[in-house]
Amino acid sequence: EQGHPRLLPSPARFLVLLNPRGGTGKAFSLFETHVMPMLTEANAHFTLLVTERPNQARELVRERDLSAWDAIVVMSGDGLMFEVINGLMERPDWATTIKKPLSILPGGSGNALAASINHYSGHQQVTGTKLLTNCAFILCKGHPVPLDIVSLTTSSQQRIFSFLSLAWGFISDVDIESEKYRFMGYARFSVGTFVRLTALRTYRGRLSYLPAISSSEIRDTTADMKSSSADRTETRVLEDSLVVPLDQPVPSHWHTVEDQFVLVLALYQSHLGAEHFTAPMVKGPGEGNIHLFYANSRISRTSLIKLFIAMEKGTHLDQEIAHLIHVPVVAFRIEPSESTGIMTVDGEVIECSPIQGQIHRGLGHVLSL
Ligand code: ADP
Ligand code: MG
Repeated sequence: EQGHPRLLPSPARFLVLLNPRGGTGKAFSLFETHVMPMLTEANAHFTLLVTERPNQARELVRERDLSAWDAIVVMSGDGLMFEVINGLMERPDWATTIKKPLSILPGGSGNALAASINHYSGHQQVTGTKLLTNCAFILCKGHPVPLDIVSLTTSSQQRIFSFLSLAWGFISDVDIESEKYRFMGYARFSVGTFVRLTALRTYRGRLSYLPAISSSEIRDTTADMKSSSADRTETRVLEDSLVVPLDQPVPSHWHTVEDQFVLVLALYQSHLGAEHFTAPMVKGPGEGNIHLFYANSRISRTSLIKLFIAMEKGTHLDQEIAHLIHVPVVAFRIEPSESTGIMTVDGEVIECSPIQGQIHRGLGHVLSL
């Protein structure tokens, strides 16, 4: 196993990136009232940077010398963490810099990573300032653990790095259409879910995947990739050894489903949102699996309602929900027949076109207990 740092040095030095527009726009005052006293108590040093526009954080972590900080802390929703991970992966020295511990403080409306880390750390599922306080405590403890990162490639050859999810259909529709209810905070997702249920859409396409079962084979290729990238000191790009180019058919040992889908979700953390315990089988941030969930157009509205209600407690997989399929995979490809739908990566909209990806087990580090 790759040695990962034990505890952060003491006193720890944090670079805090805060999005003042995240969630209902209270991130800054929440940081002052709930986080700063804990950091002072823990004798930690921090540099606070309040973002002024989208992509500023991405550019900063891509261009700056980050050696003055022991960890990069994101106080926002998942969107700002997405910027940070992609910015780090765009650096020439990405292979070493992506190892810098990251930490999340929930300051957005979509706080899935924060909820997942809170869960892995043995805390009860909570929201709001309780979740924030738990995450600030985890930050102060300063214990880095491996974080899986999924490397995605689009049909336009764009490379996207993801720590949470890729969604197509119902879930991404709700995420984006509910932006207009942002003032409601987390409730926007419940409202959005019911709105979308009343006018269910389906999307035609092809879903292919490599099941996680054949993992012995995969571990070997991952090991190859690691040693080969260690040889060349400054590797140009992270190699995706499990996938073939998007314009070629998937390898014959992959599985393919062609259907009319209501939802497709690839999730690599336990929570899809603070109150969406979607993948209860995930016990830590670096397990090396992508949990693929999909449902075709034969799923009923009643089943979908049952699914979203049970998901809050994570009991949706205990009862059989007809036409909902879950399969652990290590790589996948989605080929929508039309480009009209919404696709999101970590809650951020991307172009709706063919895309594929594979997991890189423990490529990054995140603070967790
Ligand atoms: P939320 O969960 O509330 O959506 P996110 O962290 O996902 O919070 O942020 C939403 C979006 O805001 C992201 O796309 C991010 O790039 C963008 N962003 C970051 N800083 C700013 C800013 N200062 N003003 C506006 N948007 C910003
Ligand atoms: Mg977001």
